[in-house]
Amino acid sequence: MSTAVRVALPVPLPTLFDYLPPADGQVVVAGQRVLVPFGRGQQVGLVVDAVVTSERDESRLKPVLKVLDHEPLLDGELLRTLTWAADYWLGAPGEAFAQALPLALREPRPLPDIAEEYWQLTPAGQQEHGAGRRRGGSRDLLGLLIEGPRHADELTAALPAWRTAARRLAAAHLVERCPPPAAPPRRQPPPPMPLSAEQRDAVTAVAEAFGRFQPFLLDGVTGSGKTEVYLALIEQALAEGRQSLLLVPEIGLAPQTLRRLRERLGVPVEVLHSNLAEGDRARAWLRARSGEAKVVLGTRSAVFTPLPNAGLILVDEEHDASYKQQEGFRYHARDLALVRARDMGVPIVLGSATPSLETLANAASGRFRTLRLRSRPGAARPAPQVQIVDVRAQYLDHGLSPALLAAVSETVARGEQVLVFRNRRGYAPVLLCHACGWHADCPRCERPMTLHAGQRQLRCHHCDLHAPVPSYCPACGAGALWPQGHGTERLEEALGALFPDVPVRRIDRETTRRRDAFEHLLDELQQDGPAILVGTQMLAKGHDLPRLTLVAIVGVDEGLHSVDFRAGERLAQLLVQVAGRAGRADRTGRVLLQTHHPEHPLLRTLLASGYGTAAAALLAERQAVQLPPYSHQILLRADAHSCDELDTFLAAAAAALPNDPEVQLAGPMPAPMPLRAGRHRGQLLLESTLRARLHSAARPWRLRLGALPSSRRVRWSLDVDPIDL
Ligand code: ADP
Ligand code: ZN
Ligand code: ZN
Repeated sequence: MSTAVRVALPVPLPTLFDYLPPADGQVVVAGQRVLVPFGRGQQVGLVVDAVVTSERDESRLKPVLKVLDHEPLLDGELLRTLTWAADYWLGAPGEAFAQALPLALREPRPLPDIAEEYWQLTPAGQQEHGAGRRRGGSRDLLGLLIEGPRHADELTAALPAWRTAARRLAAAHLVERCPPPAAPPRRQPPPPMPLSAEQRDAVTAVAEAFGRFQPFLLDGVTGSGKTEVYLALIEQALAEGRQSLLLVPEIGLAPQTLRRLRERLGVPVEVLHSNLAEGDRARAWLRARSGEAKVVLGTRSAVFTPLPNAGLILVDEEHDASYKQQEGFRYHARDLALVRARDMGVPIVLGSATPSLETLANAASGRFRTLRLRSRPGAARPAPQVQIVDVRAQYLDHGLSPALLAAVSETVARGEQVLVFRNRRGYAPVLLCHACGWHADCPRCERPMTLHAGQRQLRCHHCDLHAPVPSYCPACGAGALWPQGHGTERLEEALGALFPDVPVRRIDRETTRRRDAFEHLLDELQQDGPAILVGTQMLAKGHDLPRLTLVAIVGVDEGLHSVDFRAGERLAQLLVQVAGRAGRADRTGRVLLQTHHPEHPLLRTLLASGYGTAAAALLAERQAVQLPPYSHQILLRADAHSCDELDTFLAAAAAALPNDPEVQLAGPMPAPMPLRAGRHRGQLLLESTLRARLHSAARPWRLRLGALPSSRRVRWSLDVDPIDL
C-alpha cells in the first residue's frame, strides 16, 4: 500500500494506472496532464485522482516524470462525466479520456496559444504578391492577405490548407502574425423574425428551466423553425453570460448553421469537428475551456467540449445514427449530452422531426418534456402530400414507373426541380451472367460487388475491395454479363437520356468527395431553372433546396423486410426526412413513394397519420416483445481468421458470463454478415429489462473476456446499447 497519483493513459486496457508523485515535490491536481513512464517509453496521461491509496507497493511504482499544466485542463464535471462514460459504455477509461482531449493536447508540450490569431503580409510579401512568382497555396494565401490582415478562421474557411503555405511564406519573411486590426463597426444583425406562438411557447418553457436540469424533446416537422428556437435560446443564454453547446449530426450541416449563428449572434462561435486541423481544434477546445467561447457548434466529438460556464445544451436531429460512435470507445453523444446536462444543472433540448423511439419513450414516461411545433411559419404552404405509386405489374423503365416519370416530366416543364431518391451508390448492385447465372461476389465477404461503370470497376461496399470488370463470365466464358438493378449512377444515366434538355446531377459519396463540390452543387441548385437530382441519403439531411418541388423515392422495399428490428424506425425516419426536402419555399411539394408493397402497415400508417402515429405503433410492437427501449442490450462482437478460433472464443465467452436470471444470453450466433473482409464474424447478445443488472453482469465479464486465452486470437469488442446488430 502506498499513496499514489491515479492516471488515465490512452491505451486500450481496462484500468487506470498508479504513479508516485513527482520526485521534485510538485503538487499534482486532478485534471492536469502529466508525463509518465510507460512500458519502455513515455505517455501523456490525465490525472483522474491526485491522492489515492494504491494496492501496489511503493517499490513497484514509478514516479510521475513531469507535470505538464499549471492548472487542471479538465474540470470536475468533465472528469466525473468521463469516468461515468467509461464505466457505462464499458470502454477503457484511458480511451474515454483520450476522446475528450484534442490530439494536439495529448502531446507533452505546453498548451497552444489561444489569443486571436491574425495574419498579414510583410512589405516583402506585398512585393512578392505583385511579382506573381508564387504558385498553388502560397499564391492563394498571398492573394487572400493582400487586402489586409485576416483572422485564422477566415483563412481556414477560404483555404483549408493555408497553414502549410503560411509556414513556408513565414520562413521567407513574406507573411507574419499580427495584432487584431481595429474592430470593424459591427454590422447590425438582422432583426430576429417574430416567433410564432408555438416557437415562443417552446422558448419560454426552456428558458424557465435555465439553471436546472430538464430535458426537452422539441418535436417539430421539417421547416417548423426549430433552428429559430435554438437561436432564440442561445441569445437568452448569452444575455446571462452563459455558454451554449449545439450538436449537429454532420459536418455537412455545420456551414449553413454556422453562417446563421454568426450572422445573428455577433459573438465568436467556435466550431469543433473531426475534419478540423488539429491545431485549430485544440485552440477551439481551449477557448471553450477558458469560457471565452460562448457558443460551440460541433459534431459528435464536440460533446466532450469543456463548458465551465454552461447554460444550455442543444442536440439537433437527435435521432441521427451518427451520434453513435461505432468503433473504439462506442459512446452515444446524445446520451452523454444528457449526462453532462444533469451534472451541470442545465436544460437540454433534443430536436427532431422524427424523434428516436428511445426519446419518444422517455417523453411518454414524463422524463422528457415535449414541446411541439406543428405549423411551418413564414409561408402559408401546406406540408407536402405523399402519394404511393403501386408498381406491381407495371412496366418499369430503369426501375422507374410511368406515373413517376410523368410527374418528373411535368415538374421540370414548370421549371422546377426534382429529387429522385435512391439509397444505393454505383451503377448496379449486381453483375450477373445471363448464360449461367454466375454473379460477381466479393471473395472476402461473399456478397455481390457493386458495378461502378464510370470507374470501370467492381467494388465491395462492405470491405472496399476493388476489382476490374471482367469481359467474359469467369464461370462459363460467355460474354453476356448484365448489370442487375439500379444504383444512383445508372439512374443518372437513364434520366439524362430521358430528359436530354434538363441538367441531371448526382449527389452521393462519389460525386461529392471534395467538400466544396457538395457546396458548389447546393449553390447551383439555389438558381432558378429545372434540374433533376439523383441522390442517396446525403440529401436527406436539412439542406435547404428552395426550388425542389417533387421528391420521388424508389427502391426502399428492402427496408420493409429487414431482420433488424430497427429497420422500420429507420425507414420511417428516412422517408419523412427525404419527403421534407420537397416544397420548402413558396411552392407546395409533392412526394411519390414507389413500392411493390402499398399495403404494408408501416407505409400505410406513415402516410395516413404521420410519423408520430407510426412511431407509436412501432413502440407498441417493441414493448410487446420487450425490445429496446423496453429492454437493454450489450453486444459482444468478435471476428477471427478462422471459424474455429471464433467459435472457441464465443463458447468460452458465453461460459464466462456471470449467472443472473435477469440477464438473458442469446448466441453464440453468426453476425448479420458472417464474413467480412475475409474474417469470420460472430456475436453474443446480452439482454435484460433491468439496466443495472445488465451492467453488474457485464463489468466482471469484460475483465474475464480479456483474460481468456482464446481472446488473443480474435478481435472483440463490447457495444452497450448497440444500434445495429
Ligand atoms: P427547422 O430547423 O425546423 O427545419 P428552420 O428554423 O430552418 O426550421 O426554419 C425553416 C424556415 O422557416 C427558415 O427559412 C426560417 O427562416 C423560416 N422561419 C422559421 N421561423 C420563422 C418565423 N417565426 N417567421 C417566419 N419565418 C420563419
Ligand atoms: Zn456464365
Ligand atoms: Zn468485401
